[in-house]
Amino acid sequence: MITALYPGSFDPITNGHIDIATRAAFVFDKLIIGVYDRPEKRVLFSIDERVNLAKKAVAHLKNVRVQPYSGLTVAFAKKIGAKVMVRGLRMSSDFEREFEMEMMNKKLVPELELVCFMASLQYQFLSSSLLKEVAQLEGCLTNMVPEHVAVALRKKFGLKK
Ligand code: ADP
Repeated sequence: MITALYPGSFDPITNGHIDIATRAAFVFDKLIIGVYDRPEKRVLFSIDERVNLAKKAVAHLKNVRVQPYSGLTVAFAKKIGAKVMVRGLRMSSDFEREFEMEMMNKKLVPELELVCFMASLQYQFLSSSLLKEVAQLEGCLTNMVPEHVAVALRKKFGLKK
């Protein structure tokens, strides 16, 4: 039985994240979406909000759970018995950062393997940060996030439903 950890900020979860989680859940027996709780990281949504938005977004995936965590990601992976860490790679910018992080993670926990899923074509340019900008400027969020996330974003920015 292989448990995989998909860690990230998920501030908030997008359709790009959900696509990766869906595909990883098909490959591995169990997938834990780990939501970073790092006080030093500037985020729009609190840890509870991010976890709840993610939980609702993947409620239909029976082998997927969402859990908050703090501290080192590799330590959390060990704690939950994950053999694999899942990340998503977009064409533009993710590779170098993931590569660097993986080199460090391998030093810390050599037995943890990284598996990267290529972002699907329609989500290549979707990021939580860009999404927040669009939401704040009242742009259309269709096909970028589930409806409950769009509602939460509009509420955060004090916009009408
Ligand atoms: P982090 O702060 O760790 O980058 P994110 O929540 O931004 O956290 O992203 C979590 C993971 O999901 C990362 O591996 C990131 O590359 C991936 N990801 C983000 N957006 C997309 C997307 N649109 N399609 C595929 N993967 C994505």
